[in-house]
Amino acid sequence: MVDWIADYIDGPGERPVFPKVNPGDIRAQLPEHPPAIPESFADVMADMERIIVPGLTQWQHPDFFAWYPSNITYPSILGELMSSGLGINAMAWVTSPAATELETLMLDWMQELLGLPDRFHSTSDTGGGVIQGTASESTLTAMLAARWRATDGAINASGDTTKLVGYTTSESHSSIEKGFRIAGIGTDNMRVVPHDEHFAMRPDAFATMIESDLAAGLVPFFVVAAHGTTSSMAFDPTPAIAEIAHAHGMWVHVDAAMSGIAALTPEHRWVNAGLDVADSYTTNPHKWMGINFDCNLFWTADRAALISALSILPPYLASEAAQSGAAIDYRDWGIPLGRRFRALKLWFSLRTDGVAPVQEMIRSHVDLTQQLAARVTADDRFDIVAPHPLNLLCIARRSDSIEQANADTDALTEAANAAGIGLFTRTVLDGRSVMRISIGARATTSTHVAAMWERLTEIV
Ligand code: PLP
Repeated sequence: MVDWIADYIDGPGERPVFPKVNPGDIRAQLPEHPPAIPESFADVMADMERIIVPGLTQWQHPDFFAWYPSNITYPSILGELMSSGLGINAMAWVTSPAATELETLMLDWMQELLGLPDRFHSTSDTGGGVIQGTASESTLTAMLAARWRATDGAINASGDTTKLVGYTTSESHSSIEKGFRIAGIGTDNMRVVPHDEHFAMRPDAFATMIESDLAAGLVPFFVVAAHGTTSSMAFDPTPAIAEIAHAHGMWVHVDAAMSGIAALTPEHRWVNAGLDVADSYTTNPHKWMGINFDCNLFWTADRAALISALSILPPYLASEAAQSGAAIDYRDWGIPLGRRFRALKLWFSLRTDGVAPVQEMIRSHVDLTQQLAARVTADDRFDIVAPHPLNLLCIARRSDSIEQANADTDALTEAANAAGIGLFTRTVLDGRSVMRISIGARATTSTHVAAMWERLTEIV
């Protein structure tokens, strides 16, 4: 299987980037009932080749320009394999001391490598970090800590959270609204702050909304600033947002799931602007750093609020090490009790590859995006509709009417996907249909991008 995986990674462009299948096609090829007797490993692998892999979207394909990157490295695959083979549960220090301590160390290494503020380091007075499964979990976790802080911990069966209101923009990720629902704040108490022409939150509008909520007797408690929105990679102005939010005792969470990893390259460290005043921060090595899914990093500068919100201590989970404060129990730093040994993926990658190959990949993706932007700019049939500082380009067709432009852009995205020119995602920015071109597969080179653009311009 390891050889099979190595071959698969070496030939990322051999299969269509999106499978030619209809819903139900895959299941229809598989037996309806479990086998009565065990089958051979070879038979399972044969079906893997024949049915499963041809039914996959090829995220490692050089023509994969959809959603966001999900690239992988050999050491992270081996770290994952090791984690599966060990079969431990990293829920508390006492359930696997080395898993907890390696996780803390990896968060500290990443804090250093990304150039994050010292207040997130495990040895800081009030901060620290944890590896979670996804950015969605991190947002919810941050919201629960903020809710705890805003209510002085009075969250119980009769606790009243009905006056709490939180803020974000229409451009932030859907997981933010989901978090508001799960945390019991509710979508009605989620304010959508207007954004500017670059799709970034307007601090003046944010301040006005807070004033009107205060006047209505509500309690502003939480704001999410995005450093790289999913639709257009907009960067909210966190320093200005935090200044307003902190004047009202609010929690500032920064979601950089897709783009924060750019800070591994010093020239892109501007993506960290404002983190020195953020209460929590999240970014995904499982998107743009080659650490296979799942590996989400979450830091907070207020671990006491986080732990108070999430810690429940039945006797069977108590340990002298954690009670004394000498050890961390990461079960108190997230939603689930059981936890995977994810730190191994980072440790294997950082030790055997280091960050140089990742830096090279990030620089290459940013360069390719800027080269493509130059080509698009030179073609008067297209507009670039959002800033493109990193590896996402949002383009749209030009026309006399917005309706026609939208129809043309959507038709182009559909035709490009159908023709297998690549895999692209549609989005909508302020009523304008947009074709997103996200350059993030490890195998994508200038040849692929040039060929993609040439073919796109042929079918316009
Ligand atoms: N936030 C942003 C900005 C994202 O781009 C994404 C992914 O699309 C998410 C959150 C959700 O990420 P996850 O799948 O890790 O929950």
